[in-house]
Amino acid sequence: MIECIFTLDYEIYGNGSGCLRDLVYEPAARLAEVFLRHGSRFVLFVEAAELARIEECDADPAIGEVKEQVRDLHRAGFEIGLHIHPWWCNARRENAAWKLDYNEYNLCALPAARISDIVAEGIHYLRGLVGRPDFTPLSFRAGNWLFQPTQPLAGILAKSGIRVDSSVFRGGRRHDHGLDYRRTPKGSYFWHFGSDVTIDDPNGELVEFPIHTDLVPFWRMNGVRRLAHGTACGAAGRSPSSALTRLTDFLRFNYPLKLDFCRLSAEQMIAMIRRGLSKDGHSHVIPRPIVAIGHTKDLSDVSAVDAFLTFLSTNEIAVSTFREIYPRLVSAQAA
Ligand SMILES: [Zn+2]
Repeated sequence: MIECIFTLDYEIYGNGSGCLRDLVYEPAARLAEVFLRHGSRFVLFVEAAELARIEECDADPAIGEVKEQVRDLHRAGFEIGLHIHPWWCNARRENAAWKLDYNEYNLCALPAARISDIVAEGIHYLRGLVGRPDFTPLSFRAGNWLFQPTQPLAGILAKSGIRVDSSVFRGGRRHDHGLDYRRTPKGSYFWHFGSDVTIDDPNGELVEFPIHTDLVPFWRMNGVRRLAHGTACGAAGRSPSSALTRLTDFLRFNYPLKLDFCRLSAEQMIAMIRRGLSKDGHSHVIPRPIVAIGHTKDLSDVSAVDAFLTFLSTNEIAVSTFREIYPRLVSAQAA
């Protein structure tokens, strides 16, 4: 049976612009209210690096409320996952603006010792947020979805106690960062991985739950509410040649449209789930997770989310989290 996992990236714009109250706190509060009314929860992917720097530099008056919100959501049963935009780790404040370090753009491309430090700092920060020194997030999402080269990051995450990744979106391609998610295990809703996040490896310590996408002709992307300018996590400074390389990623006939609950209309989301249902087959033993993504900074129409949740409950499609589904999947696979 299909189950839907909603994941919400909790962050301001990737270039450091915007404020916590408008882009993080208020949209998360509106979404939490709707989910609680439906008796559902989502996974909050807290961008630990930027919140830590914002707090250290006392750069936003709403940081206290944001910290309180994460703690309250955790207590209310929302899952707290680790999300990292590493270009924030060395960020400096200059003239009331952020100077971000784009030399550390792809966490996967950094030396192992540096990756270990960044992951450890991120988990430490989340522990402070939820107020539990023994807290370990189960799930991870890479900044800008960059999880290649997959090692040594995957091993470092596993050693830290993380078991789930949700960075892959099928059909994804970023020439400028060497990301290639065009080939993923066919027909699998999740898979174990080791050396490469797109390759099924039963001995891998982490499980990938890809973000659900439909491959659609490019012209259909125009129907998406607030289509990304740059990337969802904010565009880094780019040279003209890298902009050209990026353009080639878009000039494909089929483009991966993410199941984005902060951008798509209810009708678009329902159509994507209906297509998933038609491929669902008859297995009722192993759950079939479909991961939806949203960003607090993109939320424009919370009533679309409300209508989508109503559709799911009317059709008896469960809304789940990684924490709920992971133990069931592991025991179903062992059986
Ligand atoms: Zn992000």
